[in-house]
Amino acid sequence: MKQRPGFPVKLDVSNQKKIEKKSVSLNWIESDRTGSSSNSVSFTATGLGLDSSVVRKNMVRRLADSGVEDNLVLTALETVERHKFLDTALANQAYEDTSLPIGFGQTISKPNVVARMLELLRQGKNLRITGKLGRVLEIGTGCGYQAALLSQLATEVYSIERIKGLHERARENLRSMRIANLHLLFGDGMTGYPAGAPYSGIIAAAGGDNIPQSWLDQLDEGGRIVAPMVVMKGTQSLIVIDKIKGELRKSILEQVNFVPLKAGID
Ligand code: SAH
Repeated sequence: MKQRPGFPVKLDVSNQKKIEKKSVSLNWIESDRTGSSSNSVSFTATGLGLDSSVVRKNMVRRLADSGVEDNLVLTALETVERHKFLDTALANQAYEDTSLPIGFGQTISKPNVVARMLELLRQGKNLRITGKLGRVLEIGTGCGYQAALLSQLATEVYSIERIKGLHERARENLRSMRIANLHLLFGDGMTGYPAGAPYSGIIAAAGGDNIPQSWLDQLDEGGRIVAPMVVMKGTQSLIVIDKIKGELRKSILEQVNFVPLKAGID
């Protein structure tokens, strides 16, 4: 059997910048667990008492209404606290269906797009008997939000980020969640991550002019790639590639708008 890499990878954290989370007031209207709604209350994001589960449930209900059907995806979206991956100044927008800046010129996709891509990934042929995907590779960790969702849908998740500062931020965001099956890597995801291959799913949050050969090579039989790609000058579409009996089958879906897939590291 192939030797699996030893993770989590140890990083030299001596220079790691502390990410300061300022305390700000949020204007969510929260209701208590019995469902009775309170007036507009201010919450402090850094306080331990923040209960955002109601706002998250509402977000999930809206996603379900808009056509997301996969219960495992919906449950993951209901569980993972999106506001914890954002700057506190943006936390009150965390459960709106909007993409938001995460620093270093990058953005976190809107929940609808995240849900759509995760749902597509799970519709590949390679779901385990457990109903989960096997090993999954994510290109573009960003703030780590989608990686946290993926960790609930797959047995093992390898997530690569090319911007050192974001990789460290994701590590910081995810630290307290102690997700044992999530492995954060710093590097150029265009070469994939051969040590974790073959993957039953590969998902990218950044779009290039084509799908790198390394991703196709590292995809398992029955596996699926879901990624944005530039199909016409300046226009990106969501691409799905399945590997069936060694053959690649490609579908071009709806137009999307992701940050560019870039080579090398920053
Ligand atoms: N899934 C992320 C979204 C991040 S945005 C989240 O939940 O926050 C897309 C990310 O892809 C950016 O952080 C960008 O730096 C990264 N990226 C672009 N090209 C890359 C490459 N070749 N390898 C790894 N990451 C890349």
